[in-house]
Amino acid sequence: MASVSINKATKRYGNLVVLKGVSVDIEDGEFAVLIGPSGCGKSTLLRMIAGLEDITGGEIEIGDRVVNDLPPKDRDIAMVFQNYALYPHMTVEQNMGFSLKLQGISKAEIASKVDSAAQILGLEDLLDRQPRQLSGGQRQRVAMGRAIVRDPQLFLFDEPLSNLDAKLRVQMRAEIKELHQRLQTTTIYVTHDQVEAMTMADKIVVMRDGVIEQIGAPLDLYDRP
Ligand code: ADP
Ligand code: ADP
Repeated sequence: MASVSINKATKRYGNLVVLKGVSVDIEDGEFAVLIGPSGCGKSTLLRMIAGLEDITGGEIEIGDRVVNDLPPKDRDIAMVFQNYALYPHMTVEQNMGFSLKLQGISKAEIASKVDSAAQILGLEDLLDRQPRQLSGGQRQRVAMGRAIVRDPQLFLFDEPLSNLDAKLRVQMRAEIKELHQRLQTTTIYVTHDQVEAMTMADKIVVMRDGVIEQIGAPLDLYDRP
């Protein structure tokens, strides 16, 4: 687990300023939701935290370490994408173990980590399948499994439920929340869905047009008369 501190972060693409100096602190173990309309800069901020985008100005700290210049692999984070980004020709087991294999971890240790993640996510019976043989919800669980096996200090979710139907979204919301309660890993979760933010967040960060408008607990932000 790690705290995350974002200090006056800015991002520019050419002449387009998409983050105009955003600051927010996320505590150890907290589930923070970034919410705001499409194009307001949520994904860009998340991708900067992950190290997938350069930061134009300001600072990002993960666990008291400034990570501005650290490549993604050195940030001890795991990200779950909207489109799952699974490897189509690998089995569920291979998908989940792949990043550990790249790290040179032993086969036995990979198998044990994959097994325990598969149990948490109810994927035990699907380990030999390929992604195309899975439902949308099962694919999203595999994407989460791939993140869990790395036991990162920080989980980053980029609209992970947007491609699922309404019923499955409700179920996966609960599953992600349970996962967080179980692992207590600091989480930053991007969505444009207010219900997701309300039901999942400890802290909601409301963005609009490249700035943070409000930060607060769900009831502070939405339950006012
Ligand atoms: P959100 O996640 O809130 O929908 P994004 O962070 O994806 O917003 O995008 C914020 C703004 O930055 C948008 O105007 C988008 O078009 C622009 N943008 C994102 N990535 C790039 C890029 N690689 N090059 C140029 N503009 C970009
Ligand atoms: P999301 O809404 O999840 O951010 P997008 O479709 O907006 O998804 O963006 C998908 C990818 O395209 C991201 O990697 C983003 O950085 C990039 N992107 C978004 N807007 C632009 C843009 N105007 N120019 C170039 N790349 C962009």
